[in-house]
Amino acid sequence: MAETFSDANGSLLYAAENGSVEGVKMALKAGADIDYDRVNSEVFSSGTALFLASNRGHVDVVRLLLRKGASVVKRSKSTFAPLHTAAHNGNTEVVDLLVQHGATLEIKDGFQYTPLMTACIYNHVDTVKRLIELGARPDLPDSYIDDMRGNLSTESMQLVQEARKSKLLRCCNPKCGKPGYRKTMKLCGRCKLTRYCSRDCQIQHWSVGHKKCCGHDAYTNDGPSPFFKFFKSMADDLIAQACARAKEL
Ligand SMILES: [Zn+2]
Ligand SMILES: [Zn+2]
Repeated sequence: MAETFSDANGSLLYAAENGSVEGVKMALKAGADIDYDRVNSEVFSSGTALFLASNRGHVDVVRLLLRKGASVVKRSKSTFAPLHTAAHNGNTEVVDLLVQHGATLEIKDGFQYTPLMTACIYNHVDTVKRLIELGARPDLPDSYIDDMRGNLSTESMQLVQEARKSKLLRCCNPKCGKPGYRKTMKLCGRCKLTRYCSRDCQIQHWSVGHKKCCGHDAYTNDGPSPFFKFFKSMADDLIAQACARAKEL
């Protein structure tokens, strides 16, 4: 690691991306902004330290950043939140940590995809399983099913279909996760997205992090950014390739 940075923020991003717990500690001590995102242009940004560590699956760095209060809702310009990027790469342990710290399972990216949908696209079976256990909603919208086209036969999608058929949803307090029917669960009155088996679970989830995340789930944009369009066409290609491969098998 010969590279050096004159500023603490740059050092923080570098350390997070490279999995250096010591480097992250030093950068924070030197005054780095824990939620700093290096915006390169109107359409590209590095993502925060938590985003980069989640992307690379650096569990210890993620744990440290969460303990220090890093935001689980701040997105990079790609419109991904840390939970999306962890799900995208199948970093199940990171997914778990983020959710334990209040990250909302139903957070949407610029395609209106949730982390569960993202994990299914890349068929990260363990991640899909864990997301469902943690309470991600398996009743995926028709528009997504259309996007997935021939990719519906993967193990991930089978898990989703099984969860959907059971008609059971899970309590969103990660310490609980009890299954229950939609009608009997209480919704968070503010975001109407997270649901709980009891008032106690709602209070507990609020204090572990939902307080900071509630209301930050939706991705809203006045119009698709150039990056979004670029990213969408890239994703469409990837899905088409995955579908072709699935058919060959
Ligand atoms: Zn809420
Ligand atoms: Zn519960």
